[in-house]
Amino acid sequence: MPAQLLDGRATASRIKQELKAGLAKLGQRPTLGVLHFGTPASVLYQRAQAAIAADLGIRIEAPGPFPETVQPAEVERVIQKWNSAAGIHGIFVHQPMPPQLDPQWISSLIDPRKDVEGISPQNSARRFFAKARIGSCTALAVMELIESTGVALEGKDAVVVGHSEIVGRPVSMLLLDRLATTTICHVGTAKAGRLEEHVRRADVLVVAIGRPQFIKGAWIKPGAIVIDVGINVVGGKVVGDVEFEAAKGRAAFISPVPGGVGPVTVMMVMKNTIEAFKLQHGGAA
Ligand code: NAP
Repeated sequence: MPAQLLDGRATASRIKQELKAGLAKLGQRPTLGVLHFGTPASVLYQRAQAAIAADLGIRIEAPGPFPETVQPAEVERVIQKWNSAAGIHGIFVHQPMPPQLDPQWISSLIDPRKDVEGISPQNSARRFFAKARIGSCTALAVMELIESTGVALEGKDAVVVGHSEIVGRPVSMLLLDRLATTTICHVGTAKAGRLEEHVRRADVLVVAIGRPQFIKGAWIKPGAIVIDVGINVVGGKVVGDVEFEAAKGRAAFISPVPGGVGPVTVMMVMKNTIEAFKLQHGGAA
């Protein structure tokens, strides 16, 4: 039987209704400050983000795009201004950034209570101790899709392919928190020729490497949950990191690309903006 599709748009829509109810109780409109650099991908992403925010009643403050040549000091100046502005509750910086900007340094500048991507050093440290207040938006989206299957994670073999700070590492921590037996694979695993072996035993497989259809369908364990985070454009088409059609024939659940993790991640940024607002209005420091 082909896998059940994990429909990210439906999950995002359900979360949107929950957020709307939460915002109605809040009685105020949080504001998200957005910095971007005018690349075609970030212009598209920002439009989608702005439409969802408008629907929810979250304000977006997005000054015009920085030029490709923007200097780190200028980005730092805006972040510091927003850090101390009571009317800005969350700060989101689009990636990719121009090469003169170091994403790790940029995220370290953001007040952790306003870090809606949940990847600043302080929020990453809290996640390590299973005490995150604002979680990594992509990792939270992955977990939402896994949870929507209703499968209990305790004792399952979870394999995460990719160990980036924004996806692979935070997802691994959250799987570990659920007592899944978690393996993290990366370039070293691939070089050692052991990627297939690890993928083959995954009850839960999360792939975030940014390489089109790199994980072969034949490697998927029958009955597995497969979450494909990758976004790649091939011949004008968006595809994931997993060979989708073949994987669908073996997995029990699979997230498609597009329409899987992506829409849920965008919604998680909104959720984190609301969490950030709450933290700044009486939440713990
Ligand atoms: P990244 O920072 O480039 O990290 C990629 C990771 O994959 C690295 O840990 C890298 O290992 C590993 N890797 C690369 N080639 C590999 C291989 N052949 N075998 C095993 N591991 C390999 O990328 P990212 O930011 O994590 O994003 C990954 C993908 O997810 C991209 O396609 C991105 O567009 C997408 N993404 C989607 C969402 C969403 O909401 N849907 C959000 C964020 C990212 P080394 O560091 O050891 O080289």
